[in-house]
Amino acid sequence: MIVGTLGGAVLSIIYALVNYYNPFIYFTVIATGIFGAGCGGCAVMGLSLGKVRGRLTNAFAGFIIGFASLYLAWVWYLFLAARTAFGQGLFFFDTTAMFSFMQLIAANGMWEIGGATPTGGILYTIWVIEAFIVLIPAILIAFSADTPFREPCNQWSEEMDCSVTFRVPEEIDQLRQSLEDENYSPLFENALMSPEDVCLHAKIHRCPKCDGSTWLELEQVSTWLNDKGEAQSSKNTVIKHLAISRQYADALLTLMPDSTNISSDESSVMDDDLGEETFQDEELG
Ligand SMILES: [Zn+2]
Repeated sequence: MIVGTLGGAVLSIIYALVNYYNPFIYFTVIATGIFGAGCGGCAVMGLSLGKVRGRLTNAFAGFIIGFASLYLAWVWYLFLAARTAFGQGLFFFDTTAMFSFMQLIAANGMWEIGGATPTGGILYTIWVIEAFIVLIPAILIAFSADTPFREPCNQWSEEMDCSVTFRVPEEIDQLRQSLEDENYSPLFENALMSPEDVCLHAKIHRCPKCDGSTWLELEQVSTWLNDKGEAQSSKNTVIKHLAISRQYADALLTLMPDSTNISSDESSVMDDDLGEETFQDEELG
């Protein structure tokens, strides 16, 4: 919690400055969400260093770190507001003094939105919503930290991405079932030499100290171009942390996209592309 709050303290300064000086409300709302997510990231960093892996403890730490960072953001924000109001920056660390100053701001308003200055109940509501936009991502991000941990070695697993992707089978449940039955051939047989718009990405989590624990994670990744022609993607977990033997994990990691064409024939890029397409058609057929 100390490590996470130190990170959150740095973010709170940046957030308070953005909040105070940036006139675009839309940007401020986004900054609030980023601040909350950043607090969650700081929580995960601290929890990882402390080797904490109780999910409720994680969520609690996310809440405390988010709350402490929000409190600090208010301290910096009121410092800046005091500098404008009284011509001198003042630190309000004591909550009673803090609330008195906040009441003063609520009575008079601080900033404008669409020509109107929110005061009283409306401003209090905005502050409560702001608190939720910070706290909810902080709690959720800390809660969802789920890197596998190897108890006998007292080590977090390391994550490695497979170089190749895999074709999505028609019956994804069947693939899941055969992997759970330790039959990996449906996965190996569907290795793709180049990624497709919809394909499976594999990750291996393994203990860095021993050969004992290895886990497989499969994600279905869909990529497409939006109206503006920008690449977008969505992920969907197919298999999360399935224990597999190290031997198969290593075999998955050593699969490489087919580069034989490139090494043997560097004269024409077109030939390479054609070669790959032909190969895929054969696979599909
Ligand atoms: Zn180990």
